Amino acid sequence: MITSSPGPHPVILGGRALPLVSPARVYLCGITPYDVTHLGHAATFVWADAATSIVRLTGAETVVCRNVTDIDDVLTRAAAERDSAYDEFAATQEYLFDRDMAALRVRRPTHNPRARHFVDHVIQLAAALLETGHGYQRDGQVYFRGFPAIPGGAPALDEEHGELTEGPERAEPYDVAVWRASGPDDPGWPSPWGRGRPGWHAECAAIAMSVLGSTVDLVVGGADLAFPHHAYQAALVEAATGVRPFSRAQLSIGAVEIGGEKMAKSTGNLILVSDLLKEHSPAAVRLLLLDRDWREAWSYRPEDLRTAAQRLERLYSAGGRQTEPSGAADAVRSALLRELDVPAALDIAEEADGEAARLVIHTLALA
Ligand code: ZN
Repeated sequence: MITSSPGPHPVILGGRALPLVSPARVYLCGITPYDVTHLGHAATFVWADAATSIVRLTGAETVVCRNVTDIDDVLTRAAAERDSAYDEFAATQEYLFDRDMAALRVRRPTHNPRARHFVDHVIQLAAALLETGHGYQRDGQVYFRGFPAIPGGAPALDEEHGELTEGPERAEPYDVAVWRASGPDDPGWPSPWGRGRPGWHAECAAIAMSVLGSTVDLVVGGADLAFPHHAYQAALVEAATGVRPFSRAQLSIGAVEIGGEKMAKSTGNLILVSDLLKEHSPAAVRLLLLDRDWREAWSYRPEDLRTAAQRLERLYSAGGRQTEPSGAADAVRSALLRELDVPAALDIAEEADGEAARLVIHTLALA
């Protein structure tokens, strides 16, 4: 007789259960190492860290790939302004980012690949797209035909999306460069189409395929990356492999704003992680970032760090209780697994037996 057992509860995202066979494969879109780490970056990487930890509550192990975009025009320009080689400059910035992440107790990813070590993979991806008719070549560049994978009605790509508008014309406004011809001041590698460098979406597509395979369970990144970056990453992989979908679920972490404006270097309204940690504990900063709906954009206000620190104190007090387990730990686990509902888990844990609070403190690395 076949009987069903309750088994571990799956993660539920967007109202759909995501049953996992261990290890769960997580692709996390990492940094372009050309500038300081601000609270907006921290929100994405702390949430990715918490999400993978919550995924492990199902009993599945996780394999996390967090790339480093160390071939990018913005990085090349920043390095040139400092009279530095782009790869040396990137390595320094990457070190500073890693230091900030360690200070925030973000666990190291399983794989931390740098784009410049995957140039051959991008060339193979470009060749595959040409072979299957999903790409075309023009003057040393290889373009991916965005349509119909990127449906009509999507915004046409422009400079705002970090897309080429100069140089050889794209056939259609949805097409993106997989391989770009390099000028004398750009980093460049030999290819069948001449000296060039990878396009950004193609870097993340090739790295994901090489490190994790044709499909992943979860793609995580800032909300501003959902389109076009993650849409094109998925479309490129699916075109090359024929396997759909590339990702079973996606976490797009809401932007951090100040006074209604997105925190960004271009607006100059940056709150640096290193500055916050001079005055606040890593646990308080993590709680500030996690005690909310991960999808929503939100505004940073300094006084909210004080509120987070008070919430943390109540949680530690609850964690010290040595009362009989009441089942609240199960309720905490369920809240975390259902849409990563951290605020609900914290509310339960504060009022319950010590076991529930200890579970949430451990899972979210709040001690
Ligand atoms: Zn990416």
